[in-house]
Amino acid sequence: MYLFENFFNDIFNIKSVIMALITVGLIAIMMIMTYLVAQRTARLSHIRTFILELIEALVVAGGVLLLRQTFLVLNGGSVMSWGYAIAQLMILLYSMYAMQTLAVTLVNLAMPLVFYGQAVRLGASTQYWWVFMLTMAVLFGVIAYISQHQALVLKSEWRFLLLQFLYGGSWCLIIWSTKPYHLFYAVNVLVVFIAYMWIIRFFVTRVNHVISHFASLDQAANYDELTGVRNRANFDTTTVGVFGVYRQHPTMPITMAMFDIDHFKHFNDDYGHLAGDAVLKHVAQLFNQELTKQTSHGELFRYGGEEFVIIFENIPPLDAQNEVTAIRDTLQKSPITINGDKLTVTVSIGISALQPADTDFDSWFKRVDHYLYLSKEAGRDRITVEGQTQKL
Ligand code: GH3
Ligand code: MG
Ligand code: MG
Repeated sequence: MYLFENFFNDIFNIKSVIMALITVGLIAIMMIMTYLVAQRTARLSHIRTFILELIEALVVAGGVLLLRQTFLVLNGGSVMSWGYAIAQLMILLYSMYAMQTLAVTLVNLAMPLVFYGQAVRLGASTQYWWVFMLTMAVLFGVIAYISQHQALVLKSEWRFLLLQFLYGGSWCLIIWSTKPYHLFYAVNVLVVFIAYMWIIRFFVTRVNHVISHFASLDQAANYDELTGVRNRANFDTTTVGVFGVYRQHPTMPITMAMFDIDHFKHFNDDYGHLAGDAVLKHVAQLFNQELTKQTSHGELFRYGGEEFVIIFENIPPLDAQNEVTAIRDTLQKSPITINGDKLTVTVSIGISALQPADTDFDSWFKRVDHYLYLSKEAGRDRITVEGQTQKL
């Protein structure tokens, strides 16, 4: 009875309420971060995604440290409390389920080592180092498994229960190895921890559902269903932003390239509409893939039919010409096979930079469209850059 009372006095007091509120706050912050990151990463380069994930990991590590500092202050310099231990474990494990990144997994792996090192530095005996080593091995296994199978673990109840038990249990033993306590506490901690994690599981599942719902809405509204590249609506909003950027930085070169598949009607007429669709997909995906490989970060849009536009920010027309020509050469080397026929697709291109005289977006767009027309007029498979037409 004494042990029970001790445990409940430790869990249910005003300090624990403060800790609980901070924990809920941290989890809410992580939830919002996860949502924002999930929304952005689709459109970011690898480096930016990496930086965002690093920030997430820092928020998790920072959250755990904040919790520790708060508790030290509340508890007059001691960190021995079950409520505190549970809160910390919840933050760590929640981050694994919600964020699903390598950086967060590494934070989870590093925390027990940091904890043990600190405990030893503060005078804990290393008598039970072998318990620490053994449980560390189990904990590493659990963390590695969760990091590889988050979705499966969240879906399957018995897996979730077993892994929470192993995760919480390992931590209890790691704490025990630095300062042995009555194992009865571990049972209580595990029950409370697993109960809380069960509630968290419910919320994580809901939030993941909402995120994927928004992602599919975003996909439908901004991306072309057939080719998967950005659509006309996305183009319209993007160009408003681009025009705004140019107003603020008039010296920054912003270039638009427009291209149109030559004699596209023939593909439809000779091989059918589905074959025409396949040609559109082939061209759009090839351009998109090649653009993501380049450092120019040109954004591809399907403007309509077999007409596409690329916006290059901070790239002058001659550089844009080199990039587009290189992609066109790749297209030339990648014929599409339809009904056993190898068909080479050619395109006509127009390129022009936004100029100070362009008072609105339309004058720029019309110029690029006119240059594309000049390429067609000159016999197709041509490029026109700022009025100069060349054979490709
Ligand atoms: P040009 O070299 O002058 O560009 O000739 P073209 O045949 O490529 O151009 P035209 O504008 O005469 O024909 C474009 C055709 O593209 C007409 C339209 O039916 C077809 N089209 C538009 N959207 C789609 C689509 O999503 N799928 C398929 N299969 N065809 C489409
Ligand atoms: Mg065409
Ligand atoms: Mg056309």
